[in-house]
Amino acid sequence: MQSTSARSLWAVPATDLDQIVNLCKRRGFVYPSAEIYGGFRSSYDYGPLGSLMLRNVREAWVRTMVQQRDDVVLIDAAILGPPAVFEASGHLANFSDPLVDCTKCKQRFREDHLTEPDTCPNCGATGSFTESRAFNLMFKTQAGPVEGSGTEVYMRPETAQGMFVNFVNVLQTSRKKPPFGIAQVGKSFRNEITPGNFIFRTREFEQMECEFFVPPADSAQWYEYWCNARFNWYVDLGIPADMLRLRPHDADELSHYSAGTSDVEFMYPWGWGELEGIAQRTDFDLKQHAQHSGQKLDFFDQATNERYVPYVIEPAGGVNRAMAAFLLAAYDEDIVNDEPRQVLRLHPRLAPYKVAVLPLSKKDTLTPLAKQVYATLADRYMVDYDETQAIGKRYRRQDEIGTPLCVTVDFDSLDDGAVTIRERDTTAQVRVPIADLEVEIRARVGF
Ligand code: ATP
Repeated sequence: MQSTSARSLWAVPATDLDQIVNLCKRRGFVYPSAEIYGGFRSSYDYGPLGSLMLRNVREAWVRTMVQQRDDVVLIDAAILGPPAVFEASGHLANFSDPLVDCTKCKQRFREDHLTEPDTCPNCGATGSFTESRAFNLMFKTQAGPVEGSGTEVYMRPETAQGMFVNFVNVLQTSRKKPPFGIAQVGKSFRNEITPGNFIFRTREFEQMECEFFVPPADSAQWYEYWCNARFNWYVDLGIPADMLRLRPHDADELSHYSAGTSDVEFMYPWGWGELEGIAQRTDFDLKQHAQHSGQKLDFFDQATNERYVPYVIEPAGGVNRAMAAFLLAAYDEDIVNDEPRQVLRLHPRLAPYKVAVLPLSKKDTLTPLAKQVYATLADRYMVDYDETQAIGKRYRRQDEIGTPLCVTVDFDSLDDGAVTIRERDTTAQVRVPIADLEVEIRARVGF
């Protein structure tokens, strides 16, 4: 699942990442892709729980970035794009990584990831690297049945260009004016030289990006605003602040378009790594697309009677990378009733299931009431229903997949019309009337 080279390169403390990788496989969060055919390197499929969690990460982002603001709108642009878009954006010329090969073991590395420039991290050979060469990371394919020039198309390496090429469409149809943002969540593709570290770096991944257009004079202030806002989003969703840092890029790290970039970094088991980048893209993108397309991509400010090209602040994060960080930060082990337990202390917004309904026994007498409780809660939340195994084992399973609350229906429930709510984090149990259950659950889940 993870190349040895990637591991030795970052000296991963095997257990931490492996605990999450194993839990993800065992409980149906993430599977290696095409596993029955031996696996497809560094590709992953998200199972019943993982797909729910990915969806929750996306929805938490859209909620904060779009739903709770009146100055950001959402789009969903095409994944395939014509070369013209990527010529204008600079991706055809610049979107490359420096690649070296070890002539001894034939492994390939990103030159800028080598800790010792002359020593192969895989086989230990020295002086065995080839000259470095630029390797374009975009996937190219062709549209239509005829091969040849004029048919090549690219799979987008970021979602951002969809926002720039639709700038005027959105401006005209949404009645927004700077400062305002266009947001998008969707798949991007990069032919990464060294994918690895589980779902941290893959060739196919999902991004959540916002291009926030501002008057040029206000760009420094908005840059600072977005750096703080994006840092706090991860904290609000449960990552301890001391596992996060905001790191401004050095001048030599900046992309060709950037006047300043800061990364929100997370303390992964292998060290600090990027979760999200916040970039000051100036007016680079709109000007490039205006020049290449011959269209006007600017804004006429009626208040000042001035026409200008807005500057752009871009918060760009990864859905899968965020999911990995949320899982790593949430993983915990403790002792309950003298037995060790594994628990995912996920924020309720991110947990695949908010509630599990557990009839104490499989007996037919309990099923109708338990199903009724399930149906009521499932109207509002993603709810699991489990009647297999002993109740203790079922609690442990829900703890391990991060379900914040369990509702147990027992034989007394048939007489007293009450059920037991059990909390994941404290394991505390409280008896509540079924008539009050929705209110009680809402108070505990938080929404
Ligand atoms: P890195 O330096 O780690 O390659 P980047 O700086 O190239 O990342 P950006 O272009 O800023 O990344 O992309 C924005 C976000 O998209 C990243 O912060 C990350 O969360 C996500 N992302 C980028 N590349 C990948 C990938 N190969 N796999 C998973 N997520 C990715």
